Amino acid sequence: MGSGLLVAMVATAAIIQVFVAGANDRTQEIAARQFAAAAGRIEPEYIDEPTAVAPAPEPVTISLTIDRSAPVLSYLEEAGLDRDEAQRWAWSFAQAATGGRLQSGHALTLYKDPDDGSLRELKYNLDDRVAIRARTYGNGVIRSSQELITYTVRPVAVSFKIRGDFWAEAERHDLPKPIAATLANAFKDQHPLTALPRGSAVKLIYQERVSRDGTSHLPTGLEAAQISFGNQTLSAFAFRDDRGQAHLYNADGVALEPQSLRFPVEFQYISSGFSFHRYHPILHEYRPHVGVDLAAHYGTPVKAIADGRIESAGWCGELGRCVKIDHEAGMVSIYGHLSEITRGLQGGNPVRVGEVIGRVGSSGLSTGSHLHFAIEKNGQFVNPLTESLGTHHRIPPTMRALFDGLKQKYLAALDRMPQIGGHGGNFSVSHAAVARTESGSGMSAMAAPPQSGAVRTVSTETSSSIGR
Ligand SMILES: [Zn+2]
Repeated sequence: MGSGLLVAMVATAAIIQVFVAGANDRTQEIAARQFAAAAGRIEPEYIDEPTAVAPAPEPVTISLTIDRSAPVLSYLEEAGLDRDEAQRWAWSFAQAATGGRLQSGHALTLYKDPDDGSLRELKYNLDDRVAIRARTYGNGVIRSSQELITYTVRPVAVSFKIRGDFWAEAERHDLPKPIAATLANAFKDQHPLTALPRGSAVKLIYQERVSRDGTSHLPTGLEAAQISFGNQTLSAFAFRDDRGQAHLYNADGVALEPQSLRFPVEFQYISSGFSFHRYHPILHEYRPHVGVDLAAHYGTPVKAIADGRIESAGWCGELGRCVKIDHEAGMVSIYGHLSEITRGLQGGNPVRVGEVIGRVGSSGLSTGSHLHFAIEKNGQFVNPLTESLGTHHRIPPTMRALFDGLKQKYLAALDRMPQIGGHGGNFSVSHAAVARTESGSGMSAMAAPPQSGAVRTVSTETSSSIGR
């Protein structure tokens, strides 16, 4: 557990403050500065690029999402440029973009002179990191360059009542698909969201990165969610565990999703399945094979499939070198025929999911390089191909106070969301509002390149709203 975790936590708290501060720009600005300070990355004020030939009045901005892959030239002609002018722009654009084709799904913004309708500038998002900007300097001079898209991290709050199907409702309220899917996955064991009764109240906060010009939104992770129906409440809170990995936890600090690997090794094929009656290739007799044999290259790392404690690590007769791990709920995983056991591993050691415990080999009674993998449940062997460990992390005691503090902040933020059901009732930080606050210079202190780790507070997977 390093200081990175604390930074992330403080950053999350500051973001919530930004959200709670609501529409007050000044407060938001201060919160944004606090956030930048907390995150340890105060950046110089974003210096606006020198303005080209763009005196007042403000240009007319046309933002569109490319709906078909086509040369930039055809889009410019459609936008009303004459052939010569369109060609000059297209040529300049192609230099910076190393090609002149626009891809479907990407954002294109045109800035036109309000008086004569001539094109002053165009901007095209090449991907979610880089944009091409072309602008005129008068006298037919057009220059194009690549620039990094700078993003502002914003919490977005959404609340709605289920009136029919969850997915339809989520779409109606512009909930990004990856966020809706995360939510559905988080609660799938407790209550499938498709089975929520009418009138269920959904409140959630997620994070998104918004490009400075508002043309690109990247939802980056669910922060907190609460679903109420009858006298039940499902809740989820994002928290980085002591390994720095973000997961969703319920109010009691138990992970909503089990953390386990499907298989402990990268294997080529299953050379022998689970059977109580198998003809043994060496012993030439029928006997149970209470595990699966995963054919894998000699020396391939073997990983613990879930958190647990080493029961034994050493020679186990027919299984050769083997490791047994005790997990929650009376489950034991067994890894046999290893060529090597990770040095220092011994009974009583705690192990983490994904930790390398040894390497594939052919020790013991074995015909070739493979891993014998078995799972015991309450003393009975079960089929590892159909049984999963399903162990759920719990917030460790050392992190509990931190988690509870964060949870209270989330709960306060969720509580402050407008009551649902009253006059329309839907509340969300609309994209337009996000774009507006961005122009405040304070928010630009939060601007960060999309790959920056310092402002990440939730999950590491970023879904892109523009095609790649
Ligand atoms: Zn076997």
